[in-house]
Amino acid sequence: MHNELREAYPMTALKTISGFDRIGEENAFAVLARATALAAQGKDIINLGIGQPDFQTPAHIVEAAIKALRDGHHGYTPATGILPLREAVSADIHGRYGVDVSPDNIMIMPGGKVTMYAAILMFGQPGAEILYPDPGFPIYRSMIEFTGATPIPVPIREENAFAFSADETLSLITDKTRLVIINSPANPTGGVTPKVEIDKLVKGLAERPDIAIMSDEIYDRMIYDGEQHVSLLSYPEIRDRLIVLNGWSKTYAMTGWRMGWSVWPPELYDKVRKLAVNAWSCVNAPSQWAGLAALTGPQDAVADMMRAFDERRLVVVKRLNDLPGVSCAVPKGAFYAFPNISETGWQAKPLAAALLEEKGVATIGGPDFGILGEGYIRLSYANSVENIEKAIDRIAEFLDA
Ligand code: PLP
Repeated sequence: MHNELREAYPMTALKTISGFDRIGEENAFAVLARATALAAQGKDIINLGIGQPDFQTPAHIVEAAIKALRDGHHGYTPATGILPLREAVSADIHGRYGVDVSPDNIMIMPGGKVTMYAAILMFGQPGAEILYPDPGFPIYRSMIEFTGATPIPVPIREENAFAFSADETLSLITDKTRLVIINSPANPTGGVTPKVEIDKLVKGLAERPDIAIMSDEIYDRMIYDGEQHVSLLSYPEIRDRLIVLNGWSKTYAMTGWRMGWSVWPPELYDKVRKLAVNAWSCVNAPSQWAGLAALTGPQDAVADMMRAFDERRLVVVKRLNDLPGVSCAVPKGAFYAFPNISETGWQAKPLAAALLEEKGVATIGGPDFGILGEGYIRLSYANSVENIEKAIDRIAEFLDA
């Protein structure tokens, strides 16, 4: 019977829209799958590939989700998210940046990614150009290509401490530009763009009210050396066209909860609300209550996690700089090191593959973040100092051999 049905509906009859031939993915997930498969075969794998904190979600946040379930929060919530949570996000923004954002402009999203999905869908179409960082989070380009828009990479350079250059970004803007994506602190480089550069970029963009801006600030609290994050929300002159992406995944070690928030200009807010109604209805209710506990409860776990990341950051950089042919700038934010490996004689992706297969160390080749990622690999230091030391010992053995 099944076979007959299959013959009645031959697969070759299916034709998806062309966007699906262009959609990409995040290779970090493929590396994670391979690392997990190797570990299942009994190999000793150290995972410096995936971009998620190695900490558990703090207990009081987990408890809040359990309580929400016990209290009967089992149904749909408003598509925009529960009001107390949007109020808490608004208070958090005010507390950290001194900026007023109405809860009516805040969307609770199923993860940070969904904000980029929504923003790129809103502005991407054939003929439109969208600027995005290269190397950068791979989903920007993938989604831009999905919509048929033209991706315009903005180079992120080591000699510029992996900050973006306002002049270079502005020079890439044309009459076709519809959206500019920026990300600081940045994945995969750990770069943090200084305020002077952001001021300059905002000044230029303020003259183009027809261009939307998406600022991916998911690592805003993961910044080192006493630096302060500069949010694009601090610039009133662009608020009418600014989308800010943020969320709980990294700050509170909540990647699996799928909890993000974003700020939208009033003109776009109802559109993203309708997209939510059409696509995901709302974020699951217990996660939203957990998100509320995260923002309103004690923040010591965040501080503890950042102290641990800071310690590992210094270890990873020191050890990498001792390797033959490797040089590594000190990352100023997030939890990634992006060493330059061009003097090792290896190309980045074959090196990352060989390190995993031969030495059991998972990293990601720079080209998985864009063409300009060649010559680099990304190491996520979301792992213990002991494992980081062991991983770099193995990389040293490999490169010396
Ligand atoms: N933006 C950047 C720059 C990221 O690195 C990530 C995750 O790695 C995200 C967004 C997505 O976060 P989420 O897991 O909340 O979807």
